[in-house]
Amino acid sequence: NSSLHELDPDVAAAVDAELHRQQSTLEMIASENFAPVAVMEAQGSVLTNKYAEGYPGRRYYGGCEHVDVVEQIAIDRIKALFGAEAANVQPHSGAQANAAAMFALIKPGDTILGLNLAHGGHLTHGMKINFSGKLYNVVPYHVDEKTNLVDMEEVERLAKEHRPKLIVAGWSAYPRQLDFAAFRRIADEVGAYLMVDMAHFAGLVAAGLHPSPVPHAHVVTTTTHKTLGGPRGGVILSTQELAKKINSAVFPGQQGGPLEHVIAAKAVSFKVAATEEFKERQQRTLDGARILAERLIQPDVTEVGVSVLSGGTDVHLVLVDLRNSELDGQQAEDRLHEVGITVNRNAIPNDPRPPMVTSGLRIGTPALATRGFTAEDFREVADIIAEALKPSYDTDALKARVTALAEKHPLYPSL
Ligand code: PLP
Repeated sequence: NSSLHELDPDVAAAVDAELHRQQSTLEMIASENFAPVAVMEAQGSVLTNKYAEGYPGRRYYGGCEHVDVVEQIAIDRIKALFGAEAANVQPHSGAQANAAAMFALIKPGDTILGLNLAHGGHLTHGMKINFSGKLYNVVPYHVDEKTNLVDMEEVERLAKEHRPKLIVAGWSAYPRQLDFAAFRRIADEVGAYLMVDMAHFAGLVAAGLHPSPVPHAHVVTTTTHKTLGGPRGGVILSTQELAKKINSAVFPGQQGGPLEHVIAAKAVSFKVAATEEFKERQQRTLDGARILAERLIQPDVTEVGVSVLSGGTDVHLVLVDLRNSELDGQQAEDRLHEVGITVNRNAIPNDPRPPMVTSGLRIGTPALATRGFTAEDFREVADIIAEALKPSYDTDALKARVTALAEKHPLYPSL
């Protein structure tokens, strides 16, 4: 019954150092967030000990009466949150949710359409060495070279030409909203399923601040740890008609025992996501991203070759275009890291630099919004980033401004 510090000081020290890193720097990786303490408490609970293959009321193990309650709460809450007919809360991650959804809907060798990785798609939407690229015949669609918006004419043309069994709509790096109704119309025209991967923008949808894909898609997948603000994990929403297929694709198709401790944590986060506070937080997330985009198109930064893809944002992230900057994506990521801001470099469409270097940055606001940042704080963050991307930046001065913001909004003060 030793504590982590007593039993394993090496791991404990790394965990403590990570807590300090999160507390003392500004987290702006668009796919990250800070889970509430109650979510982490559920995730660190005795539910980790329990095997529960199967589904609530239909398990292959004894002693599931309490985890059944937890899993049913998670299912009921997420169905209510998104107005979905059916939900599977067992996928261990977003990638596993996508693998299971595809496993349920199509067969190896079938054709799928997905947004190209370099244009903002995810690995699981058909990248060559991902399971999706190996199992399925992938036809990628792209963003338009001029507008940087998904080219729906191309989607329609490719769909008619290749007659896919599945069209995947969704993204990991895209600053605008997709037209789910148009995707569904195209899918119906060619007899394909429409799967929307809303991993990035699920929190915005839950708050009613982004169109919902649920009325349009046959299946909607998501992660629970990005804008949604819960534990790391995945979920699949579907129509009632597809629910059985989805369930058997997750278990026994793709996974063994569900992580009931994570499912408990998901349930807690779905409760949080239904509150007014959550909605207000998502609004600050959107406001923060807009403030950042507006700052990064001012003349003092465009002058040094920095700009914003698509000229702005409708979501929780901004894609910074460094094609005309002396800084490449790696250098810009390092520069921001130096002043205490964590972001990730990101390939932009038609990137002239190699994938390990890139000409872009993806900067997101969900974690800082969770930390309580207001529009005024985001204006300060945006200005720090703008200054850091100039050749004449002052590391110490910018670092001090970052520290002041971090201290203004203490993270996990009880830990
Ligand atoms: N889908 C999208 C759109 C994502 O951006 C991601 C992760 O970045 C995933 C799926 C995969 O989620 P996970 O990392 O939990 O497997």
